[in-house]
Amino acid sequence: MKAAVVAKDKKVDVVEKELRPLNANEALLKMEYCGVCHTDLHVKDGDFGDVEGRVLGHEGIGRVVAVGNDVTSLKVGDRASVAWMYNACGHCEYCVEGNETLCRNVQNSGYSVDGGMAEECIVDADYAVKVPEDLDPAAASSVTCAGVTTYKAIKESNIRPGQWIAIYGLGGLGNLALQYAKNVFGAKVIGIDTNDAQLEFAKEFGADLLINPLKEDAAKVIQEKVGGAHAAVVTAVSKQAFNSAVDAVRAAGTIVAVGLPSESMDLNIPRLVLDGIIVKGSLVGTRQDLAEAFQFAAEGKVVPKYKTRKIEEINDIFDEMLSGKIQGRMVIDFSEK
Ligand code: NAD
Ligand code: ZN
Ligand code: ZN
Repeated sequence: MKAAVVAKDKKVDVVEKELRPLNANEALLKMEYCGVCHTDLHVKDGDFGDVEGRVLGHEGIGRVVAVGNDVTSLKVGDRASVAWMYNACGHCEYCVEGNETLCRNVQNSGYSVDGGMAEECIVDADYAVKVPEDLDPAAASSVTCAGVTTYKAIKESNIRPGQWIAIYGLGGLGNLALQYAKNVFGAKVIGIDTNDAQLEFAKEFGADLLINPLKEDAAKVIQEKVGGAHAAVVTAVSKQAFNSAVDAVRAAGTIVAVGLPSESMDLNIPRLVLDGIIVKGSLVGTRQDLAEAFQFAAEGKVVPKYKTRKIEEINDIFDEMLSGKIQGRMVIDFSEK
């Protein structure tokens, strides 16, 4: 089968690869689509360590073509997802308290185990979330990481209907954050991006206020126009965005960190203490979060924007991502038409 694997010098090679035999708890998926996330870019660049030879991809959607002997949660013909959380231990404090993505023994698709950017992929059947049949599978791929991550981050922000939420970065994650915030949580949304094309794109999803921080001080505008946001979700890969979010929220506001620049943010201690602000990190979402995120997309409340591409174009896609040319998601098409 063809697969996109991490190569040397921050490149990805498309190679022929043999899959190992299935274990009793596993299922084999014939892949249909796999979105390209900025986390794949971090992985192939070695930002999280050297994983040369690893098959990328954690926004995968495929059909089950075989199951191991012990599998009861999936059957041949089901459509299932390949998410960042490949599996977890299932019995530690994090797993049993509903924080399974933080399990210390978690495995991650396309990073610590082979992922879904390939014609076939092995999944742990109990952890591969089923995809509603009435959801376009290419759109579902974007929900598998970008959608569930932002849906969960907004949950973590505790935003309430009618309150203001600031979304920093309107790329693959951010445009879905905007849609979940508005159409599922009933929030008023401020979109912030350094790229005017992304701001234009965000208009069609009904952002209530749009700011380019290269032209205006985003935090100042947000404080002046709405009295500070009740919450901020930061998907931008830039510490400037994190620092701006700290200044953009009102007292008792929550900042949810999602983007992964390899940097530190500034947090003024009197600001933190005297204004009672909350800063938290949020990592993808649980299987239940993903099932909910799929359902809202199946109901049409969130409509991922994507363009299908060939696996051979993967290095070009990463170049486009770095230069900010992508609107929504680029999705590798493995389906047979
Ligand atoms: P993307 O490249 O599609 O989008 C990033 C956006 O940020 C772009 O639109 C860019 O123009 C914008 N931007 C850059 N600098 C900015 C600034 N200073 N202020 C505002 N906007 C700015 O990337 P993506 O796929 O949306 O991923 C974003 C980040 O989220 C990556 O670091 C990725 O690894 C991370 N991520 C985290 C999780 C998680 O679970 N926490 C899950 C998925 C992705
Ligand atoms: Zn991702
Ligand atoms: Zn665990």
